[in-house]
Amino acid sequence: MAGGAAAAQAGEAGAVAGNNGAVIRVEDLTRIYELGDVKVPALRGVSLQVRPGEFVAVRGPSGSGKSTFMNLLGCLDHPTTGRYFLSGEDVSTYDADQRAGIRNRFIGFVFQGFNLLPRTTALENVEVPLYYSRAVAHAEREARAREVLNLVGLGPRMDHFPSQLSGGQQQRVAIARALVNTPQLLLADEPTGNLDSRTSIEIMALLQKLNREQGLTILLVTHESDIAEYASRVIAFHDGHLVDDTPVAAPRDAARELATMPVDEWAGNGAAKEA
Ligand code: ADP
Repeated sequence: MAGGAAAAQAGEAGAVAGNNGAVIRVEDLTRIYELGDVKVPALRGVSLQVRPGEFVAVRGPSGSGKSTFMNLLGCLDHPTTGRYFLSGEDVSTYDADQRAGIRNRFIGFVFQGFNLLPRTTALENVEVPLYYSRAVAHAEREARAREVLNLVGLGPRMDHFPSQLSGGQQQRVAIARALVNTPQLLLADEPTGNLDSRTSIEIMALLQKLNREQGLTILLVTHESDIAEYASRVIAFHDGHLVDDTPVAAPRDAARELATMPVDEWAGNGAAKEA
């Protein structure tokens, strides 16, 4: 992973430089949904930049535009007006195929519900994006998937099916799947929303490690204020506007907190579910 990520980042250096050094630059972004004659302005002119290696928490009440914004950043949708530069590339006018291409090259996604294929092992789940991205030989696909599963601490369980894994372990598989294409940007939508407190901190420790050690840029939507405290910057939406953008001077350190917590034999590594 480290070599791949470093190479990917070196490869993107030129493009990043063309974007004022930002991974993400959006200018006056709007998204208006049209439901028949009714227009729903979900985003009303959002401008911001995110630099490489930032860890940004995205907050705001339900209906404030967070998902719409993340869908645009993830190239799953296109803005109504405004511009989006991803690593220097103006992707705002891309069609669906072009958006799919740039998603594969740049972006990993993590969701609240893990979204793993149930009758498929952890290893095979992680290999899935490599089927879509480029011609990767079977042996290389498997080696790459093993590498990222080891990185997220799931090496010993890569032959398990999702039902044999705890929630935290399933989210680790999902994170490994998001990393398998060496993305520059990780978009996470409530990744700890289905997890207990300790497991949530374990997932935040993993994301902080990837952010610090791999230089991965992360945007994470969360409703929980304590989860946002692990980020280095917090932005907030209200009624489709960006209403707050605050650096976090001293983010909480999830790994350090875990080290001082009592061991919970029922949580975290799912030892009870070992075959
Ligand atoms: P959040 O993620 O903060 O809950 P959303 O981005 O999902 O907010 O929604 C912002 C606004 O856009 C809401 O008023 C919502 O009802 C509306 N909206 C979201 N998606 C659609 C859609 N596909 N069609 C119509 N309206 C939508």
